[in-house]
Amino acid sequence: MTPQSQITRPLLAWYDHTLRDLPWRVRGGRHPDPYHVWISEIMLQQTTVAAVIPYYRRFLERWPTVADLAAAPLEDVLHGWQGLGYYSRARNLHRCAQVIVADHGGQFPGTAAELARLPGIGPYTAAALASICFGEPIAAIDGNVQRVISRLFTLPDPPTLNRDAVAEWATALVPDDRPGDFAQALMDLGATLCTPRGPRCLVCPVQVACQAVRAGDPESWPRKVTKAAVPQKYGAAYWMTRPDGAIWLRQRPPKGLLGGMMEVPSSDWGTQLPDVSPFAADWQRLPGCVRHVFTHFRLELVVWHCVVTEAPPLAGRWVTLADLADEALPTVMRKVIDHALAGIATVRMNAPA
Ligand code: SF4
Repeated sequence: MTPQSQITRPLLAWYDHTLRDLPWRVRGGRHPDPYHVWISEIMLQQTTVAAVIPYYRRFLERWPTVADLAAAPLEDVLHGWQGLGYYSRARNLHRCAQVIVADHGGQFPGTAAELARLPGIGPYTAAALASICFGEPIAAIDGNVQRVISRLFTLPDPPTLNRDAVAEWATALVPDDRPGDFAQALMDLGATLCTPRGPRCLVCPVQVACQAVRAGDPESWPRKVTKAAVPQKYGAAYWMTRPDGAIWLRQRPPKGLLGGMMEVPSSDWGTQLPDVSPFAADWQRLPGCVRHVFTHFRLELVVWHCVVTEAPPLAGRWVTLADLADEALPTVMRKVIDHALAGIATVRMNAPA
């Protein structure tokens, strides 16, 4: 018995039977549109299928082809992405669409090696696109696949320390005839049965070949690395309003965290609360603070408020409250806005008559 006959074939048979109906998939051995699969793969990074589906549909309605996306203003794309988080994905998506149009005549290149040279397309997405859309026999390895492979072969080290072993075993399983279906079958297995907690081994199509089941404790694979504590950062946001209620917003620098998005001007985010305000004014600190968790740190922002009659000496522009919904604001800044509006209402309510 080979790994392919013990694992690949039963997994493909299970996939044919249980295929999840996702809007970017096609049935009957056809290859789907790489533009559709690409959008879905980028959206699915760090985001669940259920959350992605409505965004995916809206995105394709608005930008049906890679050329439409390439021609769209970046601000519109960021706005369409609003709520999905990890905005660098949207910026890379836009840039990648432009490269595909400018350098590849609007067609996706057909191999993982070429795809991986495009902006924002890493090895996993390149392999997924190449196998699903172009039939290249290559393994697409993400966290789900790492978990499944680690369990099937009881790999002794955490996947991050042993990428080669995971890749070797995964590659040995890829069939020449249906690499794309196999990639999706493995993704589905990791998403629906071989879950991080409580894997459903009793109904798993590859249970007979699974070494973690034989060992009696599948949940203890993949082996873990000890996590470092997430650093805490602090900062101040400056809520500057005009007497008619308009607020002062500025655009963040194009590169770096939340690059190119709009923000309520804020201090640098560091290990201590800043004790200076950006310019002399009648600043008032609003009660409470805003908390937000980014991938690599937690942030706590206090919000200061002042009313100014002229444009403040900071880069930016006035935005009325009615126009706020049209601004590309990241979630953390939406929290700041909600906090400021609620804080000012509370302060006014408690002010002596
Ligand atoms: Fe995962 Fe259990 Fe299937 Fe093994 S038998 S692959 S641990 S679900």
